[in-house]
Amino acid sequence: MTLEEVLKKYEVVIGLEVHAQLNTKSKAYSADPNEFGSVPNTNVSPVSLGHPGTLPKLNKEVINHAIKLGLACHCDITREMHFDRKNYFYADLPKGYQITQDKTPVCRHGYVLIKDADGNEKRIDLTRIHMEEDSGKSIHDQDPFDTLVDLNRAGVPLLEIVTEPVIKNATEAYNYLIEVRKLLRYLDVCDGNMEEGSMRCDANISIMPIGSKTYGNRVEVKNMNSIRNVYRAIEFEIVRHAEILENGGEIYQETRNFDAPSGSTIGMRGKENAHDYRYFPEPDLGGITIEQAYINQIESMLPPLPNFLYKKYINELGLSDYDATNIVENRDIALYFEEIIKHTSSYKNAANWLMGAIKSYLNEMSIEISEFPIGADKIAQLITLIESGKINNTIATQKVFPEMLANPTANPQDIATKNDWIVQGDSGEIEAIIKGVFEKNPDETKRFKDGEKKLAGFFMGLVMRESKGKADPKTTTQLLNKIIETL
Ligand code: ADP
Ligand code: MG
Repeated sequence: MTLEEVLKKYEVVIGLEVHAQLNTKSKAYSADPNEFGSVPNTNVSPVSLGHPGTLPKLNKEVINHAIKLGLACHCDITREMHFDRKNYFYADLPKGYQITQDKTPVCRHGYVLIKDADGNEKRIDLTRIHMEEDSGKSIHDQDPFDTLVDLNRAGVPLLEIVTEPVIKNATEAYNYLIEVRKLLRYLDVCDGNMEEGSMRCDANISIMPIGSKTYGNRVEVKNMNSIRNVYRAIEFEIVRHAEILENGGEIYQETRNFDAPSGSTIGMRGKENAHDYRYFPEPDLGGITIEQAYINQIESMLPPLPNFLYKKYINELGLSDYDATNIVENRDIALYFEEIIKHTSSYKNAANWLMGAIKSYLNEMSIEISEFPIGADKIAQLITLIESGKINNTIATQKVFPEMLANPTANPQDIATKNDWIVQGDSGEIEAIIKGVFEKNPDETKRFKDGEKKLAGFFMGLVMRESKGKADPKTTTQLLNKIIETL
């Protein structure tokens, strides 16, 4: 069956679980470093190794990060909470249990705003966000005979963000993950890097006949290392489910792995039920009370968030949806833009410079905006210089901007003055040049005066040449028309 055929008959139900690895300095319940890429089994102490007699101690930064994200997602913050043990056996889980939150997740409800497949705003309701710890890593592909275990990741703090089953298609899932990743990055709690596994997503997918009130059996797909692959996995599963149901089969509730090269999923294991884990309150950590004042303090320190900035750019600054979307896509780009507009109110020009010349330079050099040499205030000065008519856009882009790149501390006005790129303020210089070109080209001047409008281009070219490109095309056009009248 094709996806279109399936969607004529079935409704899709998707719930996503995102695991975000927090960028704290130390692990969730010990002082061991939380560092990616260290030599295997070096970020471990007896706590990470699960030795008997060791005790966990909660890292307060983890709570901070959780509350930040919860507030950004409009969640209720749980004031009285505890941790729970989730018991299971894996070689990379030396304690034999994971310290997580079952009954009292730090955040409940709330939502993330996304664009649906038609581009309309939609709320994706969250069930919960809870704190937990990561397991170590079993490495199956480095030794031909044995599985190796690296426990550096054991105990690294995670936030798990769980949605209600309200996502209706792969596009919504894709857009939701983009938004969550943006939030994590704006809040500076997680780098959101799916390739390195610091943000992971499990997709729960089911289908049911259109109009049905009962959800179908769900499968959970894991192991997708990009948002694009979550999209592919969902579309693959939808069709797989429909084909089974159409053939009179039943969907087996299970966990499946995504295989990126083939774009398909492979059954991995039957799905455990919650009671298999024998959750019980973690006795070694005890209860935690969060004061309202503490929540208020975190709230007062939240940075501007992408959705807020997007709406501000559209409603207050008059930017297009395209510009606003592109600017807020990357936190550091947005922060740079915020800096530029502290010094100029030419918002559209600021957006054009940032998404045009600056972005091209970043791409060309393969660098991030944080490595861009020119300060936002200098870009604002450059924009002001253009706005005031002292230099035109061409000179700004082709001469002043490259000069600023070579000498980032220099002031654009000084650069333009020193190189004689400034147009005289009273437009007298351009007037003189125009009069000169009219004098030197009497035939064309007569025809132009007699109404041959297309000669404007010819004169414009001459004026540009004489002025060494400094003349502003708009002013020049106005002056050409004004002066020809007087001849
Ligand atoms: P588990 O630990 O079993 O994965 P969770 O409660 O952490 O359970 O996550 C369940 C996820 O599955 C949630 O995102 C929820 O919205 C989603 N979900 C539940 N029922 C369905 C269903 N029938 N179809 C699709 N998704 C579902
Ligand atoms: Mg799950």
